[in-house]
Amino acid sequence: MMEFTTNPFDCHPFSGDALHEECGVFGIIGHVDAAAHCVLGLHALQHRGQEAAGIVTTDGEQFHQHLAFGRVGENFSSGEVMESLKGSAAIGHNRYSTSGEKKNYNNIQPLVAEISIGNVALAHNGNLTNAQTLRRGLIGEGTIFRTTMDTEVVVHLLAQSRKGNITDRLIDALSKVEGGYSMVVLTKDKLIGIRDPLGIRPLMLGELDGAYILTSETCALDIIGARHVRDVEPGECVVIRAGGQPESQRPFKKLAPRFCIFEYVYFSRPDSVICGKSVNDMRKLMGVELAREKPVKADIVVPVPDSGVAAALGYAEESGIPFEIGIIRNHYIGRTFIEPTEQIRHLGVKLKHNANRAIIEGKRVILVDDSVVRGTTSKKIVEMVRQAGAKEVHLRISSPPTTDPCFYGVDTPSKDKLLASSMGVGAMAKFMGADSLAFLSVNSLYRAVGKKTRNDKQPQYCDACFTGDYPVKVRDKEMKAGCGG
Ligand code: AMP
Repeated sequence: MMEFTTNPFDCHPFSGDALHEECGVFGIIGHVDAAAHCVLGLHALQHRGQEAAGIVTTDGEQFHQHLAFGRVGENFSSGEVMESLKGSAAIGHNRYSTSGEKKNYNNIQPLVAEISIGNVALAHNGNLTNAQTLRRGLIGEGTIFRTTMDTEVVVHLLAQSRKGNITDRLIDALSKVEGGYSMVVLTKDKLIGIRDPLGIRPLMLGELDGAYILTSETCALDIIGARHVRDVEPGECVVIRAGGQPESQRPFKKLAPRFCIFEYVYFSRPDSVICGKSVNDMRKLMGVELAREKPVKADIVVPVPDSGVAAALGYAEESGIPFEIGIIRNHYIGRTFIEPTEQIRHLGVKLKHNANRAIIEGKRVILVDDSVVRGTTSKKIVEMVRQAGAKEVHLRISSPPTTDPCFYGVDTPSKDKLLASSMGVGAMAKFMGADSLAFLSVNSLYRAVGKKTRNDKQPQYCDACFTGDYPVKVRDKEMKAGCGG
């Protein structure tokens, strides 16, 4: 899900000026406690978005909804709210946090619309790369937009499609749309899930006591005790009728999959399994590869919590250097502190982490984190570890330098704000004040996620943030100008 500011030419992700992606979706059909399960699922997906959460349910006749700013636990714990969410089918959405633009209630998902064939609700994770172009066209034809989200384009295309049923209309709408998306759609008697033809964003099919679930990650199935049936395939549309079995269609031209490698690096929860691979295992292997590729003599391996923990364990295991919890993270501060303003971002790192002098003093420390975006976190943490008495600080990053923005659903700043887009590794090390800095190479990252090497002619993943090799053309000129994400 991407959001435009009221002026679509004035937007930047990560900087907090607008454009918000990185969402989590959950849908369930055929369960008496649909809303309660949806709440739990969204709670497990909270890391994918903390600004707002919404749930829409259906009792087979009417839709019921509750949409609110803030986290799931804050908004879906009252009996009154839960009782209002009637029915045996539900979809929900977690939206990524942002500051910039004034909070816009209309932009909380799921989006609900009354179209000629009935009510429909839609929740979207990902970004559409031609949404502005389509939006301008639709506005030119008289369509009135209620939100500033790219997702609404799909709703209007759905409403205006001439196809007879909701599934055909959805496919018709999405055949006009480009980008990365996983969507869940609810009608009064159906739950539909669909992934973009490259399968950039994840979507899982689960089952619980005969009820079916479609959700971003398997951790949302675990929380409710549901079975992970399988991943929805790239380009697949799964339709589940109340009381029925999932039916599958492959409406789009088959393309070689390009799942987002950054989901493995950072974004997904480590206890999730994607394409049959444990996220935690992949991260640990990234650490193993990093230790092989970028070794350094030191006394302890210390993760930047929580994002660097699994890779640091792998690094320590492979190098034989002891793993120590030398930095403590305050868990009462969310990811929110990473984004908003420059000032808060600086403050945020101090509030969020503290170095443990008892562990660090007098040691040569290898600090492991998963990624460098602006470099703000690393700079602060290196400084903090030095202040705690480290003799040497060697920073090891378990992914390649982030050189290019994501246009398919991960919130990254524009290219000019990405440290690695303008600095080499030596300059970055100097900027961060580290004795040494090293990143995992692209090929080693591919090895960690189970490929021998990156196939440069036909890359097996979307790795555009590390390579600038974008699998879907970015048609919207605002995005290409570095103004979108
Ligand atoms: P930075 O300070 O901008 O270099 O951010 C790097 C830190 O942010 C790392 O610790 C990452 O774990 C984390 N990070 C990386 N990508 C994202 C993202 N898209 N949203 C929020 N945090 C991120």
